[in-house]
Amino acid sequence: MALKTNSSGKSAAQLLDPFGRSIDYVRLSVTDKCNLRCFYCMPEGFRNFEEPEHWLRFDEIERVIGAFAELGVSRVRLTGGEPLVRKGLPVLAARLAALSGVDDLSLSSNATLLSRHADDLKRAGISRINVSLDTLRPERFREITGGQLEPVLAGLMAAKAAGFAPIKINMLALKGLNDDEFEAMVEFCLEHDFTLRFIETMPVGSTGRNASQNYLDLGSVRRHLAKSFELVPGVMPGGGPARYVRVGGTELRIGFITPMSQHFCATCNRVRLSVDGTLYLCLGQDHKYELRSLLRQGISDAGLKDAILEALALKPERHEFLDKPGQVVRFMSMTGG
Ligand code: SAM
Ligand code: SF4
Repeated sequence: MALKTNSSGKSAAQLLDPFGRSIDYVRLSVTDKCNLRCFYCMPEGFRNFEEPEHWLRFDEIERVIGAFAELGVSRVRLTGGEPLVRKGLPVLAARLAALSGVDDLSLSSNATLLSRHADDLKRAGISRINVSLDTLRPERFREITGGQLEPVLAGLMAAKAAGFAPIKINMLALKGLNDDEFEAMVEFCLEHDFTLRFIETMPVGSTGRNASQNYLDLGSVRRHLAKSFELVPGVMPGGGPARYVRVGGTELRIGFITPMSQHFCATCNRVRLSVDGTLYLCLGQDHKYELRSLLRQGISDAGLKDAILEALALKPERHEFLDKPGQVVRFMSMTGG
């Protein structure tokens, strides 16, 4: 692990992990709570949430993200749990967007509360939004998430009206549950000018492992879609781990995120900060580093940056979802997906 600077020794810092990967992205979980219960993410009736006194306060989050930004991180995504259930999220977003070095502040949301907050989030400086949406059928939505589809659609339209672009729809491909809706979701995204990304289910937590019975290899989804649409290989700026195609004759991009069938660990560029101030170095491993106690003991800014560098040295090479599917016991909502 190393910290590189440019020839003038200023800015353009670059955080490198032990495998030479440049880490420029933090996924920041602002809460482990959620108003939905997607069966692959959080168990029904789950209540064992982090104590409020353990949540990082906004000033603590700002310090940690500020330290990361000084070390070379330029991209931050607010996530959870459902980030919009954390009170004052637009206020936090504005504080993070104002940090020197943070060029790209984005949000992952289930969109249930987005119609209320879309304008404030846009004004706060969030540039891009990803929304989880696995089905367009209300009954099926209830079955998968325990909630109602209507507010999600309203939230998506509010985000569009507020001027967010691109808006990306994240759809888990679930055998026997939504595998007859892929074309319908493509049409929906074409109609509304959204980007569509399919995701493979991961064995994260007992919920993720139970959902393995619905696992679908995205190679099969792509072959299936190719029967109805012309899929032109393409790229998407800032597309992350997704492999993109464009639907011929349209501007619609479809991404395939394949953590299981074709993992992308060699290009991993991220770490995750959970609501209690734990840095997780990999979604699929237990390597972690606690920052909250250091913050509350009054660590200096220099000490905080040293702690982050020490944490980065723990980043493992890859997940082992296939070799050790029972390994990760925490739910996706706890780590910050
Ligand atoms: N609540 C927000 C949402 O749903 O977008 C943000 C947090 S959620 C944990 C982030 C992403 O994790 C969602 O797109 C969700 O589909 C995905 N996710 C949750 N559990 C998963 C699993 N077992 N395998 C793959 N993706 C999962
Ligand atoms: Fe909530 Fe997102 Fe997990 Fe669904 S995937 S339960 S919306 S945190």
